[in-house]
Amino acid sequence: TVQLEDVTVHFGRTCALEGFDLSVAARETVALLGPSGSGKSTALKAVAGFVRPTRGRIRLGGNDVTDLPPARRGIGVVVQQYALFPHLRVADNVAFGLRAARKPKAEVTRRVGEMLEMVGMASYGRRFPRELSGGQQQRVAIARALAIQPSVLLLDEPLAALDAQLRADMLGELQKLRREVPEIAIVYVTHDQSEALALADRIAVMRDARLVDIAPAAELYAAPPSAFTASFLGGAN
Ligand code: ATP
Ligand code: MG
Repeated sequence: TVQLEDVTVHFGRTCALEGFDLSVAARETVALLGPSGSGKSTALKAVAGFVRPTRGRIRLGGNDVTDLPPARRGIGVVVQQYALFPHLRVADNVAFGLRAARKPKAEVTRRVGEMLEMVGMASYGRRFPRELSGGQQQRVAIARALAIQPSVLLLDEPLAALDAQLRADMLGELQKLRREVPEIAIVYVTHDQSEALALADRIAVMRDARLVDIAPAAELYAAPPSAFTASFLGGAN
C-alpha cells in the first residue's frame, strides 16, 4: 500500500504539490494524469524519497517512510532524471539492488538475465548507459526497477521514449507483471490516456499541484466528476 497523506511540496516559492492525498492499495494500479507542470512527477518523487515534503506523511505498507532515504524504501522506481548509474555497465545497473540486498551471486546472474531478456536487452549487458539510445536506457531502467521484485513500483512516463511497437510490447509486459505479481502496487504517471486505460484500475487527475478527481477508469470516462476532467480527457494531450 502506498499512502500520501496531506503531502505538500514547495520548491522555493513554487508549490508543486498541495495537500495531496492518495492511497494505492496492494494489487492496485493508479495512473496519474494531468497537464504539464501539474505536480505528477513531484508526487512520485515524494513517494520515492527524491524530494522531501514540506508537510504531510508518506506511508508504505503502513510504515511511515517520510524520513527514510530512497534506497531504504524498497521500491522500484523509473524516473527519467534518476535513470541509470552512468559508471556501471547495463548488467551491473540491473544487479545493483539485488547486490545491495545481498542476494546470492547465482541468483543475481539469473535474475539479471531474465530481466534484460524481458525488456529485449539481453545482448547489451556489457555496455555502458551512454552507449545506449534513450529508449534502450529506459528499458534497462525498467529492468532494474523490476529486478528487486518490489511491492511498490513507481513509473514516470516509462514508455515515453519508445516507438509504437516497443511501447505496445512493454505495455504487455507490465500487464503480464500485474498478473504474475498480483500483490504489487503501481503508480503510473503518463500523458497517454490509452496507456492509463490499458493498465490502471483507477485514474487520478491532477491540476495545479492538486488532485482534482480520482475514480475507476471506466467511471471517469463515462461520467467525469468535474468539468475540468471532462475537458482534459476530451482534449488532445
Ligand atoms: P510534466 O507532465 O511536464 O512532466 P508534472 O505534472 O510532472 O509535469 P512536476 O514535475 O511535478 O510536473 O512539476 C510541478 C511544478 O513544480 C512545476 O511548476 C515545476 O516547474 C515545479 N518544479 C518541479 N521540480 C522542481 C524543482 N526541482 N525546482 C523548482 N521547481 C520545480
Ligand atoms: Mg513529469
